[in-house]
Amino acid sequence: MNATTAVFEEWVRRFATLVAANRDYLTELDAAIGDADHGSNMDRGMQAAVAALDEAPSASAGAMFSKVGMTLVSTVGGASGPLFGTFFLRMGTSLGDSQDPTPLDVATALRAGLGGVVARGKAEPGDKTMYDALAPAVDALDNALAAQSPLSAGLKAAQEAAAAGRDATTPMLARKGRASYLGERSVGHQDPGATTVALLIEAAAESAF
Ligand code: ADP
Ligand code: MG
Repeated sequence: MNATTAVFEEWVRRFATLVAANRDYLTELDAAIGDADHGSNMDRGMQAAVAALDEAPSASAGAMFSKVGMTLVSTVGGASGPLFGTFFLRMGTSLGDSQDPTPLDVATALRAGLGGVVARGKAEPGDKTMYDALAPAVDALDNALAAQSPLSAGLKAAQEAAAAGRDATTPMLARKGRASYLGERSVGHQDPGATTVALLIEAAAESAF
C-alpha cells in the first residue's frame, strides 16, 4: 500500500475509533428521536470495516473506500448502513484506482459521496438528517480549495462546517427517516446521523493529509 492510500485508510480507522468512543452517545441521541440503535449500528459496521481492512492491504484509496462501503451495506441494517455505505462506495468509485489523488480529487469524491446519500435517501436541506452536516462540509472544502488553501486547511474548514451543520439540526423538524414519525416532537433534538458525519469529517481533519 502506498503512503497516500495509507493516509486515507488512517482516516477510516480514526473514524471507526471515534464512532466506538461515541457509540453510547450516538445511541442516546437516537433514543430521543428514533429507535436507539444508531451508535450500535455504526459501531458494528465500522468494526467490520476495520476487520476487512486488516485482512489485506488495499490497492488504492478508491479500492479501500469501496471495501468499507460494501462492508457497511452488508453488515448494518436500518437507514444508516445503506446511506453511509453508499457514501463510501461513491467515494471509492470517484477516486478509482488513482495512486495519488489530488486535493480536488478528494473534494470531488466527497461530492460524489454526498450525491450517493441524496440518491438513496432523497434528503433535502433542513430535513434534519446526515445531509445537513455533510453538505456544508463538502461546500466548505470546495470553497477552501478554490481559495488556494491546502487540503489540510480545507478539511479543517470542513470539520467546522460539519459541526455547525450538526448543531443546526437541533431546532429542525425531521422530515425523513424514523425521526419524521415524531413530527413536532423531533424539534429540540440533535440528529444522530449528522453527529456521526461530524465525527467522519473530524477524523479526516485529524489525519495526515
Ligand atoms: P434507523 O433510522 O433505521 O434506525 P439509524 O438509527 O442507524 O437508522 O440512523 C438514523 C440516521 O439516519 C438519522 O439520524 C439520519 O441522519 C439518517 N437518515 C435517516 N433517513 C435518512 C434519509 N432519507 N436521508 C438521509 N439521512 C437519513
Ligand atoms: Mg435508529
